[in-house]
Amino acid sequence: MKRKREEWPGYHTPPVPAPPSSSFPSLSSLRSPAPSPPPNDRAKRTSISRASSLRLCISCLEDKPPKDFMYPTACCAGNHTPDTCTTCLRNWIKHSLHEGGAVITCPECPAQMGYLSIREVADRATFDKYEALVLASLLDTNPTFVWCVHGCGSGQFHPAGDAEPIFTCHHCRLKTCVVHNLPWHPEFTCSQFDELLKEEQKRQQQQQSLAEKNRQTLLRRARDEEASRRLVVDVAMNFAGFALPLTER
Ligand SMILES: [Zn+2]
Ligand SMILES: [Zn+2]
Ligand SMILES: [Zn+2]
Ligand SMILES: [Zn+2]
Repeated sequence: MKRKREEWPGYHTPPVPAPPSSSFPSLSSLRSPAPSPPPNDRAKRTSISRASSLRLCISCLEDKPPKDFMYPTACCAGNHTPDTCTTCLRNWIKHSLHEGGAVITCPECPAQMGYLSIREVADRATFDKYEALVLASLLDTNPTFVWCVHGCGSGQFHPAGDAEPIFTCHHCRLKTCVVHNLPWHPEFTCSQFDELLKEEQKRQQQQQSLAEKNRQTLLRRARDEEASRRLVVDVAMNFAGFALPLTER
């Protein structure tokens, strides 16, 4: 009778060939595994590596990657590190424009931000507003530029100045007197208009002095009435034979 191989005397199960050491860990390494850092140590190391690659924004107090920070002006590089994130810098520009016009400083030092930096950071609406303000301030310094006084927001160059007092707006077509900086006065020349203004001023001064005179008369009358009332009370009290203390009169 044929026996199974396992039943042969002295038979031992052949050992399984060991896998190549390159793809599997060795037996000894399995028995004594390499020490790995404890979990909280590992967490600490991760937070350190993340913190070292992030910067803290001093405005929103958030950790952000370095690409979210920039120097607001070229002068800032010598004065301080960029510690305000771009989002906060954008809000700063918007707020500054709302508060004080076209002069915008760095949020961290007094250096003034330039046109290009503002264009790079500001949102579209803020930049449009900034550009309009810069243009208006440039035009204001030009003596030949005149704003329309009819509130259309337009203006134009009028090099003739006072020699040609009428300026017709290209935008709303209404006329402005550049001598008086008022709507054009079609019934009068500028010198006639000056006379009218002088008369009007005189009339207003007279009205004011009349009003002041009336006020003084009323005050005097009120004082006289109070004095005569007190007199009547005093006479009445003396007549009755006694006098009230001064505070009760
Ligand atoms: Zn920020
Ligand atoms: Zn600065
Ligand atoms: Zn106009
Ligand atoms: Zn005029």
